[in-house]
Amino acid sequence: MSGAGGDTIVDVDVVLVAQPPASPPFVWRQGLPGSDRGESIGGWLVITTESGLRGYAHCTRGVILKDLVERRLRAELVGADALAREWLWHRMWELDRIEEFPIYVLGLADIALWDIAAKRAELPLHRLLGSYRDALPAYASTTTFRDIPEYLDVADQCLELGYHAIKLHAWGDAKRDAELSQALRDHVGPDVDLMYDGSAGFDLHDSVYLGRALSEAGYRWYEEPMREFSITAYKRLAEQVDIPLLVAETSDGVHMNTADFIASGCAGAVRTGAHLKGGVTGALRIAHLAEAFNLRAEIHAGGPVNVQLAMSIPNTTYFESLVTQNPVVREASVDVDGFVRAGDAIGVGWEATWGGAGAPDQN
Ligand SMILES: [Mg+2]
Repeated sequence: MSGAGGDTIVDVDVVLVAQPPASPPFVWRQGLPGSDRGESIGGWLVITTESGLRGYAHCTRGVILKDLVERRLRAELVGADALAREWLWHRMWELDRIEEFPIYVLGLADIALWDIAAKRAELPLHRLLGSYRDALPAYASTTTFRDIPEYLDVADQCLELGYHAIKLHAWGDAKRDAELSQALRDHVGPDVDLMYDGSAGFDLHDSVYLGRALSEAGYRWYEEPMREFSITAYKRLAEQVDIPLLVAETSDGVHMNTADFIASGCAGAVRTGAHLKGGVTGALRIAHLAEAFNLRAEIHAGGPVNVQLAMSIPNTTYFESLVTQNPVVREASVDVDGFVRAGDAIGVGWEATWGGAGAPDQN
């Protein structure tokens, strides 16, 4: 597909980059691997067009991305029109039928193509998408800490640093996590928004127990207590707890899967975001789907693409910002008032995060 206003893709490459381990390392909950313990290999997808524009997308699993680009994506993309994003997004679904892409790969080409489109328009991406706001409050999304006193200490620091709300990732023990949730509510008082993320640590029985405790403690949302394969299990959970369930973060199928979560009646809100939901195009599909049902689409995880989405999606509440250490360090994307802001960078804004080091393909 090409024609007036097009810009043919002439090159698709992956630049592998060494990623140092998180320091200090962190864990999500008992049973799950935490941060990588040694150096790992990330990758930049680099799409170049005939007019000389370059679009980028980042993947923390560079070797997997490189394999898929070498075997499938380069041949699909080179010669295609970089502005035919909808066509290429549908092509990704066709390739997915054969490759069963990791869900973090499905939307990478789409992200790079939106970067190109915004650069062509000489606009920050959110301007091209249609801006709704220029700042969104951030919440501190904790990893796992030692005990209740340490969590309360971390919570105090987060509020001091400007964060507007706090979400717990905790130990994955329903009884201990319920005690922690109530202790945190007692500590911060009734006016601070609190949320809880189970990272799929529970079965239905324990999810009901913990959900009732969170409801009692006045939490805003209860996120992913179970693996998201059984929508029926989530429907049964929703029937037994009052707290709104935030669903469909890690499930495959983007808008099609989210539609079924909503249709089942279990969704208090749904997850969206560029990384696990098919890039910018998929994230917007989900946000608009949710809005049609008067539901919110809460953006999962941080990063520059999600900052752009946060400025463009009306029905979202907070920006997720990870807190992985004590003493707490506020992420660079969150300002002293606890907001992420649109910024003036053209495109997605990757270049601004490179600190003058140059594009990855020039290093
Ligand atoms: Mg989550």
